[in-house]
Amino acid sequence: MKMRSFDVCQCGAPLQAIDRDIPQPRGTEVLLKMLAAGVCHSDLHIWDGYYEIGGGKKLMLADRGIKLPLTMGHENVGAVVAIGPDAKGVKVGDVRLVNPWMGCGECKVCLRGDENLCLKSSNLGVFSNGGYSTHLLIRSPRHLFDIGKLSPADAAPLACSGVTAFSAIKKIEPETLKGEALVIIGAGGVGLMGITLAKKMGAQKIIIVDIDAGKREAGLKAGASVAVDGSAADAVAQIQKATGGAAWSVIDFVGSSATVKLAVDSIIKGGTVIVVGLFGGDITVPTPYLPMRAMTLRGSYVGSQTDMAELLDLVQRTGMPAVPIRTRPLEDVNDTLNDLRAGKIVGRVVLTPAA
Ligand SMILES: [Zn+2]
Ligand SMILES: [Zn+2]
Repeated sequence: MKMRSFDVCQCGAPLQAIDRDIPQPRGTEVLLKMLAAGVCHSDLHIWDGYYEIGGGKKLMLADRGIKLPLTMGHENVGAVVAIGPDAKGVKVGDVRLVNPWMGCGECKVCLRGDENLCLKSSNLGVFSNGGYSTHLLIRSPRHLFDIGKLSPADAAPLACSGVTAFSAIKKIEPETLKGEALVIIGAGGVGLMGITLAKKMGAQKIIIVDIDAGKREAGLKAGASVAVDGSAADAVAQIQKATGGAAWSVIDFVGSSATVKLAVDSIIKGGTVIVVGLFGGDITVPTPYLPMRAMTLRGSYVGSQTDMAELLDLVQRTGMPAVPIRTRPLEDVNDTLNDLRAGKIVGRVVLTPAA
């Protein structure tokens, strides 16, 4: 029996179908038959092989240890089909979401609980082979999470866009989240997830900022109460008006030079900007702003094992975020990535290798 995966063999070139022998799990390894693989915007960066870091400079992923050929795909749900002799806590037939943000489990950062920030990361679909494939071998069952009654296609995006949004929102103090308007920049897949999760986490009023009218509309449908065109000349004034002065917290799911500047300009004294998106760029912040405005500018990257468990618990209790999810066969992976790059996808596309 062979497994088939779609691999990046050359940066930016179409993914190629490759057949390999199905591996036999050893030690604590677990083999999954893939049921759902979400297609994420960050796959475009991995595919291209770099991030823009402003001033025309690029952060090359090869320098960070990414090797080709690579099977991308980090939003994975599969059914357990084989387990290694030392894999505990799962059995054949179990359907599990994979936490792709895998660390070594031993470095100082992992030991603090932030395995997603491991110094020797082996993130699935980035540094090790992911789920654009019929089968997926997982190093250890501790990265597998029960999805309860959720469908595989609904649950898959929780592994990246879900936990990314959840972890960013968790960085806002609960009182501020409940008592003050929250500004979310970017109504793509992660931003829409952010709107619905923020509401489940107690946010009363959300202002969505996007330059695209269709995405602003999707943001309002997802539960935002005000939409602001981020490209409007008076965008800062509109945000300040909608927040009743200025924003206590802004989460930027885009992360471009323009959006981070907009976020910094829109916050109140003591306010916080959390940058999540990896669009790329750079900004200049007058250093006196940091003390005089007592501002916090911080980043948030995916989520920890704890975040994943808490997110699944929240979704089991309160229902799935109302983010539009469409499924496509695994073979459509190249078309899907191209559609995503062209901005033609609202919400999320999930590939279904077993369909
Ligand atoms: Zn992702
Ligand atoms: Zn580590």
